[in-house]
Amino acid sequence: MSMEKCPHCRARLREERTCPRCRTDLTLALDIETEARIMAGQAVTSLASGDAAAAAKYAEKSKKLHNTLFSRVLLEFCSAAYTKTGTPPFYR
Ligand SMILES: [Zn+2]
Repeated sequence: MSMEKCPHCRARLREERTCPRCRTDLTLALDIETEARIMAGQAVTSLASGDAAAAAKYAEKSKKLHNTLFSRVLLEFCSAAYTKTGTPPFYR
């Protein structure tokens, strides 16, 4: 899952850190995506170890960094798992 289009000029991208068409520096945007992916990974790991509260927290962080369909579904899933533990969600 990497950035497929330049957010500036919509040029197709592969693994470039600079857009080949408009020369926009994509490092920051890519770093945010990477961070969001790490947070999503932490959410899954927390969920797997039975810590739904931590999972929901990481999923929320991930969605804030990079709002994608995946991050929204992940948050919904972690949030549902957390609600099942009987404690009300602390975010919204
Ligand atoms: Zn561009």
